[in-house]
Amino acid sequence: MHLFHTLLQPVLLYGCEMWGPFITGFSNQNINNFAFENKMLNYNTFPGEKLLTKYLKFTLGVHSKTSNTAVFMELAQYPLYIQLIKLVFKYWLSPDTINKPLLSEALKEDKLIDEKGNKSWFSFIKEILKELNMEQFLNNSNNLNDNLATSLIHDIVSQLKTRFRRKLSSDLNQNDKKLRTYKVFKYIFKTEPYLNCVTNLKHRNSLSRFRTSAHKLEIEVGRYKNIVKEERYCKCCSNNCHIEDEIHFLLKCPIYNSLRSPFITSLKSKFVNLDSLSDEHLFTWLLSSEDKFTSCLLAKFIHEAFTLRESHIYSS
Ligand SMILES: [Zn+2]
Repeated sequence: MHLFHTLLQPVLLYGCEMWGPFITGFSNQNINNFAFENKMLNYNTFPGEKLLTKYLKFTLGVHSKTSNTAVFMELAQYPLYIQLIKLVFKYWLSPDTINKPLLSEALKEDKLIDEKGNKSWFSFIKEILKELNMEQFLNNSNNLNDNLATSLIHDIVSQLKTRFRRKLSSDLNQNDKKLRTYKVFKYIFKTEPYLNCVTNLKHRNSLSRFRTSAHKLEIEVGRYKNIVKEERYCKCCSNNCHIEDEIHFLLKCPIYNSLRSPFITSLKSKFVNLDSLSDEHLFTWLLSSEDKFTSCLLAKFIHEAFTLRESHIYSS
C-alpha cells in the first residue's frame, strides 16, 4: 500500500484542490441531500476510487467481484475521497490562499456565487462543514492560526474516517450474502497481521481469498448459479449430503484429512486446549488469530487444500 500512497495517489489527486469539488457530483444542482456516506466508494463520485479498489484487490490477490467492504476492511484503507476533501480544506485554510490578493478576491467572488444560490467551489466547503455540524468555522476561516487550522482539518478527517468505518460496519451487518462468513470473524477495522507475517505469497493470497469468499467453494459458486443454499453440496464428498461452506472445507471434509491432520497436530503443539473448542469456535479462532505461527499454518493448509480440491474436481 505504501507504493500506492507514495506514487499513485499524488498523481490521482494532483491539483484536486481546484477540480475536486467539481467532479464529485456535488455541483449537480439536482443533488439536494449531500448524503456523504453514499458518495464514499461511489465511482461516480470520484473515478480515481476505482483504481484504488483495483489496487487493493490486486494486493490481496482476489478477483474483481470480491466485496469492496471486505477488501477495505482487510487492508484498513479509506477512500481517496477523504484525502481529496482534506487537500481542499488545506488549500482553503492555507495562508497563501487567504493572504494573496488574487486568490482572496477569487474566494470572495466564489462566496457571492454561492450566496446567489448557485453551486461554486466554496459551496463544497460549506456543504461539508454543514454535514459535519461545523458550520461555525465558515465565517471565521481568516482568523484561524496555523494550529487551529491544522486541528480543524484533523477533526474533519477524523469525522469522515469514523463515518466511513461506520458505513463498512453497517454494510457488514446487513444481510449481505457475500459477507456472511466474513462478519463471523472480522470485527475490527485494522490491517490484518497475516498480510505481513505470511511471507509465502501463494499461501497468503489463498488465505485472503478464503477470508473474503473470493473462492470457488460451492457455497459461493452456488450463489451465482441460483442454487438454494441447502443444496450447495460438496463435490468432494462421496454422497451429496454436506454443504460445502468454509467450515466444511477447513475442518470437516474428509478429502483433506491428509493435509488437515499435520496442520491440527502442529497447532496443538502450541495450543493444547484446542480440543475443547467446537468447530464453529475453532473456525472463528483460526480466522481471527493474529499469531504468526497459526496464520502461516492456516494459509499453507488452505492453499494446499484449494490445490487438492481443483485436481480432485477436474479429475472426476
Ligand atoms: Zn466435502
